[in-house]
Amino acid sequence: MSPRRNTPRRRQGGRRPTGGEDAVFNRVTGAERRENGPDGEWAVRRITGSAATKAYRCPGCYQEIPPSMPHVVAWRPFGDGRDRRHWHSSCWERRADRGVRYPRR
Ligand SMILES: [Zn+2]
Repeated sequence: MSPRRNTPRRRQGGRRPTGGEDAVFNRVTGAERRENGPDGEWAVRRITGSAATKAYRCPGCYQEIPPSMPHVVAWRPFGDGRDRRHWHSSCWERRADRGVRYPRR
């Protein structure tokens, strides 16, 4: 099962989900940047410890990212943001080295 999409999905009109979490996310995070890896283009933001208020599951190592730990958020820039993932900073950096594609589990 490989949910790769060959056709970039583009949204017209910029409709975004508005929820508490997203509002907080947009307020507390700084500028995003683009990274090109072997698995394509990503929009990436660095989350500071003070901005990390929840625990997340890192898709790189499947361990929890505890609150207050600075980490990385990455998502497909052409998507609707639902594929956003929180990564340990080190797991994000190592992902390209290991040749890891988008996690499938
Ligand atoms: Zn990790």
